[in-house]
Amino acid sequence: MNAKTLRFDVLIIGSGQAAPALAVALAHRGETVVLVEAKDLGGTCVNVGCTPTKTLRKSARVAYMARRGAEFGVNIGAVTIDFAKAMDRMHERVNASRTGLEGWLASTPNVTVLCGWGSLAGHTEQGFQAVVEGKNGQQHITAGRVYLNTGTRPFMPPIEGLSSNDPRILNNEGLLQLRECPKHLFILGGSYIGLEFAQIFRRLGAEVTVVEPSNRIAMREDEIVTNAITDFLLEEGVRILTSSTLTKVDGTGSDLRLHVQGNIHEASHLLVATGRLPNTERLNLASIGLPVDARGYVDVNGQLETAVAGVWALGDINKRGAFTHTSYHDFEIVRDNLKEPTALRSADDRVTVYAMFTDPPLGRVGLNAAQAKAEHEKTGRAFLVAEHHMRFVSRAKEESETHGVIQLIVDAKTESFVGATVLGINGDEIIQVVSNYMATGANYKLMRNCLPVHPTVTEFFPTILDKLAAL
Ligand SMILES: Cc1cc2nc3c(=O)[nH]c(=O)nc-3n(C[C@H](O)[C@H](O)[C@H](O)COP(=O)(O)OP(=O)(O)OC[C@H]3O[C@@H](n4cnc5c(N)ncnc54)[C@H](O)[C@@H]3O)c2cc1C
Repeated sequence: MNAKTLRFDVLIIGSGQAAPALAVALAHRGETVVLVEAKDLGGTCVNVGCTPTKTLRKSARVAYMARRGAEFGVNIGAVTIDFAKAMDRMHERVNASRTGLEGWLASTPNVTVLCGWGSLAGHTEQGFQAVVEGKNGQQHITAGRVYLNTGTRPFMPPIEGLSSNDPRILNNEGLLQLRECPKHLFILGGSYIGLEFAQIFRRLGAEVTVVEPSNRIAMREDEIVTNAITDFLLEEGVRILTSSTLTKVDGTGSDLRLHVQGNIHEASHLLVATGRLPNTERLNLASIGLPVDARGYVDVNGQLETAVAGVWALGDINKRGAFTHTSYHDFEIVRDNLKEPTALRSADDRVTVYAMFTDPPLGRVGLNAAQAKAEHEKTGRAFLVAEHHMRFVSRAKEESETHGVIQLIVDAKTESFVGATVLGINGDEIIQVVSNYMATGANYKLMRNCLPVHPTVTEFFPTILDKLAAL
């Protein structure tokens, strides 16, 4: 052991969405905890993910509603966008969240935060050995247990001319640092992150083009959902190129030239939103005999334990969710299992729910119709499905926000919910009616007989459930 080695009961590498709460919970148990973070405390969500995008989304929505003012009898006049102010508001929110987190950790006895890249360096009878490479050199650490919460980073596909050194070619991190709205934002990737940014930047005044190699955007969702999202994005002037591959990027000065299917498009900026890669290769997991899969993810069991005793993996790197709420839920599972080792909680039991924060948002849980159909064809399991378009929902009509669809899916035999989609106003909140219900395993007929509030979107659930029919 190095003479200057610091000793802790627990080492946490990466301050993702599980780590800060875990550090504090373990410290409250009386354990000494070191939390190692290479960049900014709070990880992707706080700094370059959920917090900034959802804050900026609000500016975009205000702009959208202001432009529609006259429709509602509110005359506003010409709407102009102060892009820098919208970005400042976003940065203020991010900084406040991060500062709050820093203060919380700094004021918790037994928690030490170290800045730098953490990696493992073997296991001895003293415990796990680790090294932190920071600005001021190396720090050596020994700890009895290790929790990994290192998250993911943007993936840059190997396309000619696509270079992270070009200031016009951006990922989510670079896009959120802009001070001027792009004249024409070209977005590579028509999935969740790309689509959220497409609508936000369009509403903030950019010309926006989305290029997607698949034959439709939001590929993981049902076609009915793709179609509704396509409709409202097109209506707002977002251009969508599907079945289209970007093969080369060139161009000088302020204009990029994007080669797509034999055509050349010009744009001021390119956002690369083509998926994410797990941050595991710098962890030297091989030094403790911990394997990763072909894509770099770490396998865990329901308790989030890895193949190496005393090492847990939480958040995006464990493949059990790619969301802030799944990462935080991982923390809760680990915390509760330490408290109650005789009644273990498991990630296998959770009902994974998520949202895409377009406007209107998409709320999703469990199976969609295409997945249910595939399962039926494979296993014979029978499902009942019902759909209802938002244009028939009175609350949506009253709000003049009628894009979207609700889809509810039930297991024909057990009569319990197996999935739901709510694309429409408040879909991100409403979906949790079904996900929480699914967690109980209750029969759908119970919901059908419940009393809803009028006028809400959810009040249609009993009506929709009355329409259930074999898939
Ligand atoms: C643009 C965007 C929008 C998103 N919007 C949403 C949303 O609305 N809702 C939602 O639920 N999810 C959203 N997500 C996903 C969400 O941000 C992540 O799922 C969430 O942050 C959970 O990640 P995590 O806990 O695994 O770690 P992360 O939050 O990714 O944090 C990992 C941390 O570990 C650090 N790290 C990595 N390697 C090392 C190392 N070797 N040593 C020290 N530190 C290290 C990193 O610097 C980082 O700070 C969004 C993501 C993006 C990119």
